[in-house]
Amino acid sequence: MKYIGAHVSASGGVFNAPKNAHALGANAFALFTKNQRRWEAKPLDANTIRKFKAACLRYNFKPEQILPHDSYLINLGHPEIEALEKSRHAFLDELMRCQQLGLTLLNFHPGSHLNKVSEHDCLLRVAESINWALENSQGVKAVIENTAGQGTNLGYRFEHLATIIEHIDDKSRVGICLDTCHTFVAGYDLSSRDACEKTFQAFAEIVGFEYLSGMHINDSKVALASRVDRHAPLGAGEIGWDCFQYIMQDARFDGIPLVLETTNSDIWIDEIKQLKQWAK
Ligand SMILES: [Zn+2]
Ligand SMILES: [Zn+2]
Repeated sequence: MKYIGAHVSASGGVFNAPKNAHALGANAFALFTKNQRRWEAKPLDANTIRKFKAACLRYNFKPEQILPHDSYLINLGHPEIEALEKSRHAFLDELMRCQQLGLTLLNFHPGSHLNKVSEHDCLLRVAESINWALENSQGVKAVIENTAGQGTNLGYRFEHLATIIEHIDDKSRVGICLDTCHTFVAGYDLSSRDACEKTFQAFAEIVGFEYLSGMHINDSKVALASRVDRHAPLGAGEIGWDCFQYIMQDARFDGIPLVLETTNSDIWIDEIKQLKQWAK
């Protein structure tokens, strides 16, 4: 079974997200559980939690179909201790919000070294941050997203993801979200079925599909290996439809949220419809 959806708005309250996803014909969705550009958020109150859970039941979304995304401000690999502490506490707060909402996944970008420490040291720091947050929470899996490798962002090589996982104490609570746009611009070709075969084989060998816990389904405005993150509507970028058809027809991508973050939300309904047709 393929779970296909989009990163929907939660404006007005997280309980609006399931309805917004349902309106797209989606059976998966992503959301922010707080404003993603701010550090502070007011705690979730009992009424909001109750309404969110009721909306998920009503529109038939189970936790494994929902992929919350954390704030863009968080850097779990921050080289400076004070900023690192701030990020760690904000990340724990995000995990707790998911826990309160009955959710089981939290998607985040690993972190940036800011040219102050080596890539390897930064990856170890990210792993330490995740270990600390997992020890202080329950039931939510930390789902690391691969990145485009812009600036000093880590997570653009499959080896980075493998290194972080290697240093996680509770491997049952760590997963990976592969973003097709990020994968492609990081230098892993996805522009033909053969290219997909090779790229996902590399992922299988270096990381392992047992960790794959979600996907972001995006085309790319920019070229292979450009290390620039610019999402495009499906089929309108450098990746092209073959990749998305390939994913929909491959059982390794069953049972995890497959989430559009493409740039034109007006055509999400059509994109989801097309993906669903191939998934049959
Ligand atoms: Zn993404
Ligand atoms: Zn992106």
